[in-house]
Amino acid sequence: MKYTGPVCRLCRREGEKLYLKGARCEGPKCPISKGRPAPGQHGLTSASAKKSEYAKQMRAKQKAKRIFTLTERVFSNYYQKAENKEGVTGNELLKMLEKRFDNVIYRAGIASSRKQARQLISHGLCKLNSRIVDIPSVQIRVGDKFEIKDNKKEVNILKDASANKSTAPRWIKVDLKNLSGEMVAEPEKDDFEKSIESQYIIEYYSK
Ligand code: SF4
Repeated sequence: MKYTGPVCRLCRREGEKLYLKGARCEGPKCPISKGRPAPGQHGLTSASAKKSEYAKQMRAKQKAKRIFTLTERVFSNYYQKAENKEGVTGNELLKMLEKRFDNVIYRAGIASSRKQARQLISHGLCKLNSRIVDIPSVQIRVGDKFEIKDNKKEVNILKDASANKSTAPRWIKVDLKNLSGEMVAEPEKDDFEKSIESQYIIEYYSK
């Protein structure tokens, strides 16, 4: 089921920044920066409480789902696909998540959050290999080129927001001035989201 509550609550539940709100996440208003505890009556004690193996597995899975803003059904489908691939399941899972179109737009630094990237794509503002693609889950391949459709208002907002922020990883070549880029290599282990503990996720699903 899609979560529709306050986004920052998800970070507070995990006890760390998941960077779900773009620029606000770097600012002083971030509840995690302010040291706000996890929600609920056990919020203050949950961070220091010793976790069972199952709790660690569950939290790792929930955190990954939340970082990529996916529902349980979609996330477990990714796991099934990763399991059927030849490589290490955890790496295959994270690779597929990294290669989602919305994640690539976010990683390139064009959007300030994965949520914003998904909206841009769903609203038909992103082109993939010169054609509008409005499906955020599309898997990007090496050599694929992406750009923001020439829509003055949106383009100016994005250009202002991304100016001088070259945060793209080595597997994405980006031209922030023109809000375009290309996937130039496969994301590898060192490129994956560092805070995701894939081993726990595998253990959770392989029971
Ligand atoms: Fe998480 Fe960002 Fe909210 Fe901070 S501001 S709690 S990082 S979503």
